[in-house]
Amino acid sequence: MTNVFLGIGGNLGDRRQMLRSAVTEIRQVIDDVRVSALYESAAWGVTDQPAFLNAVVRGRTSLPPLQLLDAMQAIEHDLGRVREQRWGPRAIDIDILLYGTEIIDEPRLSAPHPYMTRRGFVLRPLADLAAGLTLPDGSLVGEWLTTVAQDDVRQIEGPGWADERDIEINDG
Ligand code: ATP
Ligand code: CA
Ligand code: CA
Repeated sequence: MTNVFLGIGGNLGDRRQMLRSAVTEIRQVIDDVRVSALYESAAWGVTDQPAFLNAVVRGRTSLPPLQLLDAMQAIEHDLGRVREQRWGPRAIDIDILLYGTEIIDEPRLSAPHPYMTRRGFVLRPLADLAAGLTLPDGSLVGEWLTTVAQDDVRQIEGPGWADERDIEINDG
């Protein structure tokens, strides 16, 4: 089993519900899932679009890297991701941030995710789950966190926002 970290985000539709659905589907695929707090941040890269909600999911899997990517892309598809513009608006985006301590450089998959150490909306939730985590190059998540702007990354809900027990009760 390999420890993996996934970055999830979206900026269209009911963003929180979309991320909750993504976590539910991720639980079907990987084991021992834990989820960070929920953050809102201004769009990165292509800034002329709605704000994103983001979180990080940690878990363990026996799937090899490309099969994990296939599974995550299937979830994106299931949840109705249609737009394919890089860094553009999307209902759901699931990125593989880390696949254990492996360095992967394939056409379909780079791990660690090439931009993860430059994105506050990745590093903040990642640090919730693993501030002391060491990246494959020996650098520390907690140290990267001090190097990025975070003033536009706002925690809007603590851990527990994606809990399964948080079901809607209709006692009408
Ligand atoms: P970014 O990767 O900078 O966050 P993005 O998420 O907007 O940009 P997408 O359009 O979702 O990019 O994905 C483009 C392609 O990136 C995917 O089809 C996938 O094959 C590839 N890719 C490479 N490395 C990864 C990774 N670590 N996780 C997910 N997809 C990856
Ligand atoms: Ca992404
Ligand atoms: Ca992506």
